[in-house]
Amino acid sequence: MATILVTGGAGYIGSHTCVELLEAGYDVVVVDNLCNSSRESLRRVEELTGKKLTFYEADLLDREAMERIFDNERVDAVIHFAGLKAVGESVCKPLEYYHNNITGTLILCDCMRRHGVKSIVFSSSATVYGDPAIIPITEECPKGEITNPYGRTKGMLEQILTDLHTADPDWKVMLLRYFNPIGAHKSGRIGENPRGIPNNLLPYITQVAVGRLVCLGVFGNDYDTPDGTCVRDYIHVVDLANGHVKALAKMAGEQGGVWIYNLGTGVGYSVLDVINAFEEANDLKINYVFKERRAGDVPACYCDPSKAERELGWKARYGIREMCEDAWRWQKTNPKGYE
Ligand code: NAD
Ligand code: UDP
Repeated sequence: MATILVTGGAGYIGSHTCVELLEAGYDVVVVDNLCNSSRESLRRVEELTGKKLTFYEADLLDREAMERIFDNERVDAVIHFAGLKAVGESVCKPLEYYHNNITGTLILCDCMRRHGVKSIVFSSSATVYGDPAIIPITEECPKGEITNPYGRTKGMLEQILTDLHTADPDWKVMLLRYFNPIGAHKSGRIGENPRGIPNNLLPYITQVAVGRLVCLGVFGNDYDTPDGTCVRDYIHVVDLANGHVKALAKMAGEQGGVWIYNLGTGVGYSVLDVINAFEEANDLKINYVFKERRAGDVPACYCDPSKAERELGWKARYGIREMCEDAWRWQKTNPKGYE
């Protein structure tokens, strides 16, 4: 069976993807510098699957370390999650974000090329659509104006990887545009583990529920949406992880190319819908107040995921209730994350 190098595999989406890969029979090699994750997540991945993976604590920016990893391992394809992802922080630290995300990817791809590995699945984002010109968003929707350096690294890296394929058509490049991943593995053993105060909606809600935070701020209630709060396409992280397994299977049967897929459910929920769904699913109350709009937020962002269903045979299976139940199971059994 093939060996998959998973960069950023100790992180939120990466750890869930490692579970699905191991269960599908792949051998897994993780590279992560643990700048936003913990070794413990991978220990739990092994515990959940009863299988071993290989872990290198290394930085993508460390070319020699990366070369050694490719020398040691017979890698068939790469799933590239590693990157910094905090939108607000990226505005304050653009150089750090461009260096880590772009230079890290350039070094990774150069090592891949030198070792004859030419298949990469890249974590892109719905953010590349900006304020989308078409709703629900299809892959034909033009890329929009991106409002922060984090998002711009995604747009630039999509272009860089596409250029790589233009220069050498043997490259197989899969650009997966994630919508809003939430939830956790059913077991409650792995989940999202943000450092400091969460920026994202679901971890904020679960931390209010567990008593670590007092009150959720809902950013804006005067948008042009059914209830005035922003609408997003939330997707269960396990469904998202499965999308990567399907992406690998498709690439294995192809010669070379660039493929783009939206990974979402196709259903839009407002912030208030999510709060209500969380309260109902878990039978508790979330304190919230309305606040000013957050800079850079678009009113509505949800996708048409039918291309992924047609071409990858992938479709999200879990609904908002399971996302809320699973997020809460993880948070309540791990109130301090992996600490
Ligand atoms: P995460 O922070 O949990 O995981 C990223 C991992 O990459 C972390 O374990 C971190 O330690 C590692 N990392 C970062 N820089 C590194 C470097 N230079 N060398 C080695 N390891 C490094 O984030 P996540 O939510 O799991 O996201 C995974 C990917 O998906 C990211 O590229 C992110 O931008 C993208 N994405 C995430 C979302 C989301 O809402 N979570 C949405 C769209 C796209
Ligand atoms: N949001 C909110 N309060 C928070 C965090 C997020 O009201 O504390 C809203 C945010 O304005 C957006 C939605 O929740 O409309 C999802 O935000 P998140 O940061 O999770 O993901 P994004 O869609 O920005 O990638």
